[in-house]
Amino acid sequence: MADFHLLIADWYRQNARTLPWRNTKNAYFIWLSEIILQQTRVNQGLNYFLKFQNNYPTVKHLADASEQQVLADWQGLGYYSRARNLHFAAKIVASEFDGVFPSSFDEIKKLKGVGDYTASAIASFAFDLPHAVVDGNVFRVLSRLYDVETPIDTNEGKKIFDSLAKDLLGNNPPAIHNQAIMEFGALHCVPANPNCEICPLVSQCLAFKNKTISERPQKRGKIVPKNRYFHFLQFNDGKNIFLEKRINKDIWQHLFQFPLIESGEGATIEEIKSRLIEKYKITPISVSNQIKHILTHQRIYAHVWRFNSFPNEDLWDENWIKVDSNDLINYPIPRLLDRYLLEE
Ligand code: SF4
Repeated sequence: MADFHLLIADWYRQNARTLPWRNTKNAYFIWLSEIILQQTRVNQGLNYFLKFQNNYPTVKHLADASEQQVLADWQGLGYYSRARNLHFAAKIVASEFDGVFPSSFDEIKKLKGVGDYTASAIASFAFDLPHAVVDGNVFRVLSRLYDVETPIDTNEGKKIFDSLAKDLLGNNPPAIHNQAIMEFGALHCVPANPNCEICPLVSQCLAFKNKTISERPQKRGKIVPKNRYFHFLQFNDGKNIFLEKRINKDIWQHLFQFPLIESGEGATIEEIKSRLIEKYKITPISVSNQIKHILTHQRIYAHVWRFNSFPNEDLWDENWIKVDSNDLINYPIPRLLDRYLLEE
């Protein structure tokens, strides 16, 4: 595509946002920013990046921290597996690479939580290695430029977009080239109402020519999220509460929560209340409004049941730990409960 790199790089120089991870070649900071931004908007991720940069100025500082501390610093950002993987990978960099971030694509990709996209981003931004980056923004820009009908969420689509991105990169400087396309997708060629009137690529854009912009990129279909119904039990004897640590391998693994029971769809509040009284032999004093929490693959509908005493000891679960209510702040908890406690 004629002059693509020159046009996009020129646009980038004039329009790029000033972001702290852009003015560095420090691979550790670039990695940190990429993991934080994986499922998070720049505005929200920025403060977390600054917090991690400040609390853990080197990969060794991160490796030496406790997982509980790292999760607590991550609190509010969601998708906690990112923080667990980050911490795990920091330990590998500290022990196997003597604290020096690996500089080859293959070594970077071996780190936990790092896939093709993230490895390409780190390798190109930090080390100027010739790896084309394909993220959601790049998919959109390329699907419009070349008017690609193949859905992006298919194996065939991935191959086509990888190949287009590689061809466009060619021998151009990888760091600026990749960052320019990503930023162009984030700010200019946006999902709705892209700025075609003043687009430097308009003469080359096939979707503009074919009037198919709103249909690009194509997706095969959305995953139907699963509904789940959570009932958290806030037992409080006036001083202490019960927490339990999530050990299941899921997005909340290693976080703490109030003891939880899950019900099926359609169970009424009265039915749940009777079930709780039957099980714990004490009556809840109140129940919260429903809290809705939307994740990629599931929609959680939660209630928090409040009790002003503990059940008899023989009814305690072995996973429960008694915690002073004032110490709750030291325990990383899911965002859903964090929101509940803030509003309580
Ligand atoms: S002309 Fe419009 S759709 Fe095409 S690249 Fe430019 S902003 Fe995107």
